Amino acid sequence: MSTAIQHYINGQRVDGDAAERQPVTNPATGQITGQVALANQADVNRAVEAASRAFPAWAETPPIRRARVLFKFLELLNAHKDELAEAITKEHGKVFSDAQGEVARGIDIVEFACGVPQLLKGDYTDQVSTGIDNWTLRQPLGVVAGITPFNFPAMVPMWMFPVALATGNTFILKPSPLDPSASLLIADLLKQAGLPDGVFNVVQGGKEAVEALIDHPAVEALSFVGSTPIANAIYQRAAGHGKRVQALGGAKNHMVVMPDAHLDKAVDALVGAAFGSAGERCMAISVAVLVDDIADEVVARLAERARTLKVKDGMQPDAEMGPIVTREAHARITGYIEKGAAEGAELVVDGRAFESSQAGEGNTDGFWMGGTLFDHVTPEMTIYKEEIFGPVLTCVRVPDIKSAIELINAHEFGNGVSLFTESGSAAREFGRRIQVGMVGINVPIPVPMAWHGFGGWKRSLFGDTHAYGEEGVRFYTKQKSIMQRWSDSIDDGADFMMPTAK
Ligand code: NAD
Repeated sequence: MSTAIQHYINGQRVDGDAAERQPVTNPATGQITGQVALANQADVNRAVEAASRAFPAWAETPPIRRARVLFKFLELLNAHKDELAEAITKEHGKVFSDAQGEVARGIDIVEFACGVPQLLKGDYTDQVSTGIDNWTLRQPLGVVAGITPFNFPAMVPMWMFPVALATGNTFILKPSPLDPSASLLIADLLKQAGLPDGVFNVVQGGKEAVEALIDHPAVEALSFVGSTPIANAIYQRAAGHGKRVQALGGAKNHMVVMPDAHLDKAVDALVGAAFGSAGERCMAISVAVLVDDIADEVVARLAERARTLKVKDGMQPDAEMGPIVTREAHARITGYIEKGAAEGAELVVDGRAFESSQAGEGNTDGFWMGGTLFDHVTPEMTIYKEEIFGPVLTCVRVPDIKSAIELINAHEFGNGVSLFTESGSAAREFGRRIQVGMVGINVPIPVPMAWHGFGGWKRSLFGDTHAYGEEGVRFYTKQKSIMQRWSDSIDDGADFMMPTAK
């Protein structure tokens, strides 16, 4: 049965104009499970009007009372996290335990947002001049929007709206139309938590909805997470309107394995980080950089693991990898595997050989493939340069750590990187010299904790501030400086020179 997936505006699920809908598919079965509404300009206008109406009262609500709503939301999220995880698995395909992990990492940010009042304290200087005090405060921007990718339908929105709401903004979420149901479950929980109508809204849809949000004069700021070409286009268009924008883009994350690394741990890390969530993570490791003489052994061990991955419906408890999100994404990844082989990389394990019948009964129409492993990949090859966003691990062999650092620093992306070594000095030098925003030392997926902020460098992020953490608080607020003097302090009449301390 296919259900209608609606917008959420002013505290209600609504169809809007619903002139257009897009099918939503369970990637494990290939069956259409829903029809999501695609917002047009009028739908977006209604959401912005609701958010604009709700803004003055929400901005005036004391921060501690806003935080209490988020505390209640946190309790509800914890109570409903498996329901949310199941909705994710059924539309995204990732295995259920991974979906639970996604929700847990989103919950981290809600916990952080509950403490945001502490970060809204301004600073104060008594007596900047005789009888004059000066202080700064941070005020909300107004209506802000978040545009999010398919690969984390709960966590990435939670990078944004908890901080935006805690700081007094009203929010419009535009989720990916590939897995939109999580957004509505979140909206329902926020309402149950006592969030006033209009403070959080969801418009479903694609390009038309996004452009309507960017161009709407009442939308003050946009947070985007998705692929680099769209991030770049959104950044330019929103900045052209003079809006505040943070646009996080794609990635090609390398993991360097040094000859002194703990090899069992390095191989475990590579397998999990390359094939977990079918490689559809912006922090997935897609390049193993194998230093010096350990390469043959690491490739042999990786091959064994890639061949024996448990690829199944994500709701099966022992599944390690689920299906690919859509038929189109499956075709794109298959195309990259063909290209890698044609350009001369050694195809050690070919994920195309995985038969959909191996995925279990009822799943033969799903979008299945196994893990793929390439060796002897070089920087000129397409599979090295471009983001594949699938379960394809490419191995590049280098003679030393210097070459590894040069290789990584020359790549256009700079999201995440990891180094496996037992040498403290190698780790220190690597951390200092690498041109990447998030670095793991013996940690394959170094997604920063809620209060540290998330963001890549180079073409992995357009804008100044990282998502969540204190950077998120700065992004969603503007600083105001107030200088005050009262009439019983000194009065020196009209002064035509630039004021200085007296
Ligand atoms: P995408 O760029 O296709 O879509 C992201 C969002 O933009 C969606 O809401 C989509 O509906 C919208 N969109 C798509 N085309 C658009 C257009 N032409 N104009 C305006 N809006 C448009 O990305 P995706 O396939 O959903 O997600 C995967 C990508 O996201 C990968 O590149 C991945 O690396 C990246 N990602 C990055 C991070 C990060 O933190 N840097 C995190 C997660 C995902």
